[in-house]
Parts: sequence; structure tokens; C-alpha cells
Amino acid sequence: DLSQKTALITGSNSGIGLGIAWALARAGADVVLNSFTDRDEDHAIAAEIAKETGVTARYIQADMSKGDDCRRFVTDAGRCDILVNNAGIQHVALIPDFPVEKWDAIIAINLSSAFHTTAMALPMMRKAGWGRVLNISSAHGLTASPFKSAYIAAKHGIVGLTKTTALETAKEPITCNAICPGYVLTDIVEKQIPDTMKEYGMSRDEVIKNVMLERQPSKEFATVEQLGGTATFLCSDAAAQITGTTVSVDGGWTAL
Ligand code: NAD
Repeated sequence: DLSQKTALITGSNSGIGLGIAWALARAGADVVLNSFTDRDEDHAIAAEIAKETGVTARYIQADMSKGDDCRRFVTDAGRCDILVNNAGIQHVALIPDFPVEKWDAIIAINLSSAFHTTAMALPMMRKAGWGRVLNISSAHGLTASPFKSAYIAAKHGIVGLTKTTALETAKEPITCNAICPGYVLTDIVEKQIPDTMKEYGMSRDEVIKNVMLERQPSKEFATVEQLGGTATFLCSDAAAQITGTTVSVDGGWTAL
């Protein structure tokens, strides 16, 4: 039961972040959604969650590529019992061709944002006497593939940040873990299909079957609902001694 808790989820107007927001709201947590846009439809998502679940749901615009915005997001939320660092982008290119601005943006959004939000959230958690930090890493936080240097560096980096956060909070009722999904069919995956088709000279179906799900022994995408369930479990009392580790939701990818 997560009532009385407030969960902040970065990058949550779509995909996994939104799935986790729904799951935490269904478990009773008030939720604060985020992305870099400030559209009516962003606020409408929060209103729909509030209407369906009865919790308080808000949307706060903040650009996770900017450290000051990351910090303002947590400050403006006013309270943070559960922090889900989920915002992420991808770019697919070989290292010599990898655009420098894409490298910088991926490191900022996928890695540095979690440093900034965690820095602001831990004092709030300490004051409340309880906290959960969930960092959304990836199977690519534990293994590599060609063409994704920045993403893989950031996702490995966030596993390291997870371990340090866990050690710095080890004696407190605060835990920090990384969730490592395999492929989930969200926008971020949809968007990389065209480039991957080009890189490998394959059709869309071939990319899905031979490149993406080739790595996933279950041959099925993981779902945002399953990731919501994993996040909810890591926020439960049963998970109080799980800290500083990774939880893979990858259909066996990392067993290979
Ligand atoms: P998605 O594109 O649907 O979600 C990414 C979210 O980040 C969106 O809500 C987007 O608005 C937000 N975002 C992007 N740039 C931002 C910025 N500058 N500031 C604030 N928000 C920003 O894709 P997703 O699959 O739901 O990705 C969510 C997380 O899960 C990412 O960290 C991604 O790396 C990770 N992940 C995804 C998969 C997968 O297969 N889909 C696998 C492993 C890990």
C-alpha cells in the first residue's frame, strides 16, 4: 500500500514511465509525471490517472537534459518518497559517425539527470524517514551491442550510480535499485527501427525478429505493465533489503 507516498517519475508521458506511473497510482501513491513538453495532452494524462485511481496526479514540465531543470522538478514537486529516473533517449550510429551533440544529450538525459534528481530527493526521503530510488537502466546496462555507444555507456553508468546511492543510504530505510528491461515496444524502440533497418539492410519485420528479439530468448517483448509491477514490488516492504542491485526484466537476454 503506497498511499501517503508521492512518486516522481521522469519522462513519464509515454512508454515505461507512464506504465510505472499507472502501477504506482493503482498501488495508492500520488504521482508526479514529467517530460520536456508542456502540452494540454501531458496534463490530461495526469488528470486521467487521478480520475481512474483516485490519487493526486500532477504533470510538471522539466527538461531532463538540463541539470537545473532536473533539480527544479524535484523542488517543485515538494515531496519525493519514490523517485523513478526513467527519462531516456537513444541514437544509433557507429562511434566515428556518432554526433557529438547526441552523445552529450544521451549522457545528460539518461545518466546525469538521475544524479541531479537523486541529489534533491535524498534529503526529502531522509526527512520523511523512507525512500525508494528506481533507476531505469537496460539490458544494455549489463551487456553491449554495436551502434549504441552513448546509450550503453549511460546505462552502465546508471548501474554504478545505483550502487553508490545504495551504499550511501544503506543504514537508512531507503533503497536504490536499477531495473534492466530488455526490449519493450515503446516509442524509443519504434524510433530506432528505421536506422537499424538501414544499418543492417533489413526490413522492419527482420529487425524486430532478427536484431531485437534475437537477443531476447523468450522471443517476446516485455510490457510496460510488467515493468510497473516490478517497480511496485521494489517499493514494497518485501523489497526492503533489496538495494544496490539490478533487476532484469528481459526474457532471458542476460542469461545468454
Ligand atoms: P519512450 O520514448 O516512450 O519514453 C521516454 C520518455 O522520456 C518519454 O516520456 C519522453 O518524453 C521522455 N524524455 C525524453 N527526453 C526528455 C527530456 N529531455 N526531459 C524529460 N523527459 C524526456 O521510451 P521508453 O521505452 O518508455 O523509455 C523509458 C526508459 O526505459 C528509458 O530510459 C529507456 O532507455 C529505458 N529502456 C527502454 C527499453 C525499451 O525496449 N523500450 C529497454 C530498456 C530500457
